[in-house]
Amino acid sequence: MKCPLCGKMLLSVGPKPADLICQTRVKFTKADLPHYSQRDRDTNDSIIWYLPPYKLINIGDFSEIWTVIDATDTHTYWAPEFKFITKVPIIHPDKPEIVTKRIKNLIIFS
Ligand SMILES: [Zn+2]
Repeated sequence: MKCPLCGKMLLSVGPKPADLICQTRVKFTKADLPHYSQRDRDTNDSIIWYLPPYKLINIGDFSEIWTVIDATDTHTYWAPEFKFITKVPIIHPDKPEIVTKRIKNLIIFS
């Protein structure tokens, strides 16, 4: 299966149901994260994708929009800290620039 954002193959990571993770890393303050990840099952599950400075979590029929506010030193790596902005009807994966534009519009009107 390919990443719906950048088209690279998703890697299957961990025990079943595995996480399918995009190999593209996106840079946040002091840390980078996989572009896109989802659980390898087709039930009503969460999908997480990162489009700096935003993080999206798709759960059921809704998308939560988060934004990065800082990064925390966990002593092994820098983990970005996110702040919840809003919950909107589901945003489907598309080209990153299209999705980012859509998020910006949603934030303005929320
Ligand atoms: Zn990707």
